[in-house]
Amino acid sequence: MVVIRSYNYADVPPDELARARATADRVFQQAGISLQWIDCWVPDRPSSIVDRRSSGCNEPLRDGSEFVLRLMSSDRPVPPASTTRLAMGSSLIDHDSGSGALTTVDPALVTAIARSASAEYSTLLGRAMAHELGHLLLGHAHHSTNGLMRAIWSQDEIRGIRPAGWQFSRGEAAQMRQGLASRSRAAN
Ligand SMILES: [Zn+2]
Repeated sequence: MVVIRSYNYADVPPDELARARATADRVFQQAGISLQWIDCWVPDRPSSIVDRRSSGCNEPLRDGSEFVLRLMSSDRPVPPASTTRLAMGSSLIDHDSGSGALTTVDPALVTAIARSASAEYSTLLGRAMAHELGHLLLGHAHHSTNGLMRAIWSQDEIRGIRPAGWQFSRGEAAQMRQGLASRSRAAN
C-alpha cells in the first residue's frame, strides 16, 4: 500500500481529479501496487473541500511508502504543438540514497497538451501523476525506452494515433514492489 498526500494548489475540479486518480490507480494495480489518496488542506483555497482537522497530513511521512503530490500550475509557456519532449511534472530524488518523497505535476501544462493533442485531460493527468510517482517509487530519475516511464510522450501517442505503452514494465513493477517491501522491513 502506498499513501499519496495530495495538495491541489491548481484547483483541479474534483470530478477530473477523481478520474485522473482512477487512471493512476489502474496503472499501479497492474504493477501490483495499490494507492491510497489523502486530500490535504491547501492554504488560501476557499474552495478546498478538505477538512483541515481530519486529515492525516500533519503526521510525519512514513518513510518509503508515503509520498507528497503537489498539483501546481506554473507560468511556463505552453510548448508548441510540434514539440516532442513533454515533461508535465518533476520529482525530487536524492541522487545518492535514491530516496525522494515530493513530486509536482503541472495541471495547466497537462490541460494545454491534452487540448493540442485532442486527448482526454483526466487520462493524461493520471498518466503524468503515475509517471512522476513512478520516479519516486523507483528511486531514480531515469527513463525507459518504452512504456509509461519513457521520457518522450509524442503528440501522436497521446492522441492515440501511434500505439504506445502506458504501463510500467514488469521489471519496473518488480523493482517498485521490492523497494516497498525492503523499506517496510527496515521500518519494522
Ligand atoms: Zn520522468
